[in-house]
Amino acid sequence: MTIQQAIDLAASLRRRREAADRCPPFDCGHRDPLDCIVQRPGPSKFGLTETELRRHANQLVASGWSVEDVLTRLDISTRNPERNH
Ligand SMILES: [Zn+2]
Repeated sequence: MTIQQAIDLAASLRRRREAADRCPPFDCGHRDPLDCIVQRPGPSKFGLTETELRRHANQLVASGWSVEDVLTRLDISTRNPERNH
């Protein structure tokens, strides 16, 4: 990328940001769909039962993920369903 291309890109991004600021916000609060794409993912909502979700979390930890990373990405309640039986 040349210096001129970098300057043109920066100006283009600035114009996009200014245009987004003139638009009403989406339900999520963003004004530019690109912001939705790059936002940090929240807890997972895929349709597993709590037992399946816990099994998947354990598999992630066994494959090297930290417990903190797993808890950040998966919506696992702190209650243990096995103890409620
Ligand atoms: Zn958004």
